[in-house]
Amino acid sequence: MAQPKYLTGDTAALNEFLDKFDTFLLDCDGVLWSGDHVFEGVPETIKLLQSKGKRTVFVTNNSTKSRAEYHAKLTSKGIPCQVEDIFGSSYSAAIYIARILKLEPPRNKVFVLGEAGIEIELKSEGIEYVGGTDPAYRKLGMAPEDFEGIASGATLDPNVGVVLAGLDFHVNYYKLAHAHGYLRGNHVSAEDKATAKDGGKALFLATNIDSTLPMYHNFFPGAGSASVVALSNMIGEQPLALGKPSQAMLDAVEGKFQLDRARTCMIGDRLNTDIQFGVQGNLGGTLAVLTGVNKKEDWEKPDAPAVPAYYVDGLSDLRGAASS
Ligand SMILES: [Mg+2]
Repeated sequence: MAQPKYLTGDTAALNEFLDKFDTFLLDCDGVLWSGDHVFEGVPETIKLLQSKGKRTVFVTNNSTKSRAEYHAKLTSKGIPCQVEDIFGSSYSAAIYIARILKLEPPRNKVFVLGEAGIEIELKSEGIEYVGGTDPAYRKLGMAPEDFEGIASGATLDPNVGVVLAGLDFHVNYYKLAHAHGYLRGNHVSAEDKATAKDGGKALFLATNIDSTLPMYHNFFPGAGSASVVALSNMIGEQPLALGKPSQAMLDAVEGKFQLDRARTCMIGDRLNTDIQFGVQGNLGGTLAVLTGVNKKEDWEKPDAPAVPAYYVDGLSDLRGAASS
């Protein structure tokens, strides 16, 4: 496989790189910032790209924030953008549920294992949900009646058709047990089970399966580790994940922005999400940055999930092209 081209400090190569693309899809965590710390030169780099007539679209797997909340964070950090330029895994999941699954009532509610970002996007697509940030689910411990209610389905909502798991900062046994009850179909009566699709078991979806979350120059448990894998283990099945590298997300981005894939480049820090997303989607290019999860040695391994076409030390190295 061709080795990625290193662009940092190479003005001619940087100019050639920028000329190849009209649109840049940018991951956020580990590319623009680590937690609340914006990497040096990032706002100026985004402005430079925009001043050259490039479209910048922010494509993030972090489901904890809605598009509006991302917009507020980006602009507060001096990164110019519109809400329409933001594509999150919560939004991607909401679009999938509302416009592709189109669940038939009555079993058309979603049980959310996640934060407000998911709830806001579900609401924007008119989807009803339970769980999520509801304080009733932020309960520690299990009483005998909790076990009994979930086992019999008496305390479950009979109208749940989907369990959607994302990063949940309040994950606990009580919530996991509810999600599991829905995935087993405990909430569906015996007579309905006979006729229901898949025996009434809720469909298992995930916003994303990232194992870690880069924050404060360190790594924390991601959705994949903190909530999704627990449920996968319980039922012995993997979810359909709607964040990167899911091509459902790229199709949605393409549909919205009328992308020319050949003139689009994905920029990210993670091989098994960002870079794989761009490679599988036949984008014109992929650019890895070394400010986040993966390093050069990761794509040099024989079992690397994907290899970028280009790499730079950090996003702001793209400014090197301005000097020519
Ligand atoms: Mg990232």
